[in-house]
Amino acid sequence: MSFDDADNSLNERIYMDYTASTPLRESVQESMEPYWQNIFANPMAAHADGRAAKEAVEEARETIADVLGCAPKDIIFTSGGTEANSLSIFGFLKWVRRQEVDISDLHLITSAIEHSSVLNVFRDLRTEGAEVDFVGVDSEGVLDISAFKAALKENTALVSVMQVNSEIGTIQPIQKISHTIRSVRDKNTVVDLFPDEVDQNIRDIFPLLHTDATQAPLFCNIQVESLGVDMMSLDAQKIYGPKGVGVLYKQNDVPISPLFLGGGQEHGLRPGTENVPLIVGMAEALNIAQENRDAFSEHISNLQDRFLSRLRDELSEAHLNGGTDQRVPNNINISFSDMDHEFLAVQLDERGISVATKSACLEGGVEASHVIKTLPERNTTSALRISFGENNTKEEVDYVIEQLKDLT
Ligand code: PLP
Repeated sequence: MSFDDADNSLNERIYMDYTASTPLRESVQESMEPYWQNIFANPMAAHADGRAAKEAVEEARETIADVLGCAPKDIIFTSGGTEANSLSIFGFLKWVRRQEVDISDLHLITSAIEHSSVLNVFRDLRTEGAEVDFVGVDSEGVLDISAFKAALKENTALVSVMQVNSEIGTIQPIQKISHTIRSVRDKNTVVDLFPDEVDQNIRDIFPLLHTDATQAPLFCNIQVESLGVDMMSLDAQKIYGPKGVGVLYKQNDVPISPLFLGGGQEHGLRPGTENVPLIVGMAEALNIAQENRDAFSEHISNLQDRFLSRLRDELSEAHLNGGTDQRVPNNINISFSDMDHEFLAVQLDERGISVATKSACLEGGVEASHVIKTLPERNTTSALRISFGENNTKEEVDYVIEQLKDLT
């Protein structure tokens, strides 16, 4: 796929909120087409029509497993990133309770900049009695690795850190976190809490490492072995796939219990009839994301470079939240001092430009962004998030810069 022939004209509206959602890629839509009307049977049905639907689900599972470098049985389809995050974290804690272990005996770690679908799960677990550390970030918006090392305890059962932050686009040091975790696994005491008959396979797996990689596949390596993660959440709607479908990768030995009860779908861990067209679309979108990663990153980087250079030269009062070294190319997150960023976003909207002030799931609330609040040395608690996608052009970047100059 080539990105050089992008139309250089201004689109009717300028959409720069691709972190919140991406459009469905045409070829992805085409791949889903047969599964609405023709191959529509329930994949659990034993007849030939059911088997055809099942085959599509299993092919999609294999495609995704190939991209992640794992076994197909390690892939669980969910309704999106939120459910994948809940299934991994709540699912593990539910399993813990089933072993009659008190969750107040466990220590959990996450970062203070997680998406609400992770943060609120940990807040809930803290309310239930688990001890949780929310580790902060450095001035670049990257997890403070020494604070993380200091937070680790012998009874740390689970660590969850996102791969790419959805507000400031910073890439988190998952490999460093994984190395650190692996170096302390032999000292971990969590396994001693479980009854003797609990599977031998869980002897050396604590602390577990989960990553919410929802924002990563377009730009980053998501191979689970090289990252060193035990669980990973993915979401099709962030990668030019359909809304309402995601994946939880779970290494085979990691014990979780299902959050819903029902049939035996998804190895009994996520019951409910599989949504065949969405699952097929997710696999196609992820495969394309992997194949185009370099060319796509380069195309989007050009837009980011242009935006940043004009920002530096012509809007020097704008403060870029998060560093540039460890940042995905589609994200710009800026703050202007003494500026109501919500109002600024509304004014841009009126001028035909769609941008965000924080994560779409929190948009509309009065709360300032928890990510911006967590950044040390920040001068404000609010910001503007501009996120580029495939259809954006240099002319659109220039237009947005001109509007910002006019409004600030
Ligand atoms: N995790 C991250 C980092 C996200 O950006 C999002 C969506 O914004 C989610 C999880 C939740 O995805 P969904 O709303 O599709 O379940």
